[in-house]
Amino acid sequence: MKIAQGIEVIPGSPNTLIVDDTFVVDLGGKNSELGIKAEYFLATHGHADHIAGLLKDGKKFLPKEDLWGLTDIGRRMMVYGFSSRYNEIFTYDLIRGDIITELGNSPVETLRTPGHTPGHVIFLFDKVVYLGDTVLGEKVLENFVFPFHADVWAELESLEKVKEVVKSKEYSVIAHGPIITNSRKMIELIEKNITYLRNLEKKVISLISDKPLTAEQIVIKVMQERGRIPTSTSVLMNSIFVKSLLSGLNAEAFILDDGLYWKLKGS
Ligand SMILES: [Zn+2]
Repeated sequence: MKIAQGIEVIPGSPNTLIVDDTFVVDLGGKNSELGIKAEYFLATHGHADHIAGLLKDGKKFLPKEDLWGLTDIGRRMMVYGFSSRYNEIFTYDLIRGDIITELGNSPVETLRTPGHTPGHVIFLFDKVVYLGDTVLGEKVLENFVFPFHADVWAELESLEKVKEVVKSKEYSVIAHGPIITNSRKMIELIEKNITYLRNLEKKVISLISDKPLTAEQIVIKVMQERGRIPTSTSVLMNSIFVKSLLSGLNAEAFILDDGLYWKLKGS
């Protein structure tokens, strides 16, 4: 889908941005089968669904804080917090095997937006900014229930930061969700991301003010309330977000016979 002279987006999950037939940003998912050739392959972060471009011939970029995305072990640590021998619970192993990349100076501007991962960056071209997973589509947020951010608090700061960037560019593109290029609509979506995270924060506070709960219990309760069926993988992954939330809140961890529980301080 052509959005302007020299700017093309191939819809997918992630949506892949191509600028001037030279730069390919976030090649992954089904788009990685398209046989795209380019001079530069850029990845916003090291999650398995964004780094297929690093397997291609060309100059490759991955933010240095996410270099652990180059190995199976590092990628699993970013997604699940640990690695192990292969187990079918690792459903996000979209790429198997280690990747070799040489990092050069990338001629596009990068801006750090940590939170989703430690090294997440966005790419600023002349007219278009590619936001990667810093901003998620509304349906994506709802489907995940707990959107997949390693550090919720850093993510909230990054969302404020990208709001300003979007205002300064003609077009903006996100990785997962509809192809919105209009700045005003993108700012609305950024606001929705912020509100969504803040509402989850309120929800978790209200749950643990009723009674102490483990991170997994919180995940299961909220998923069920929203009509989702928790799976081993979703509980494993969603509890990462909840732990980041809890540890940044005024919450206190303590141990009972059957787990690590969280309560509000002073309650
Ligand atoms: Zn991601």
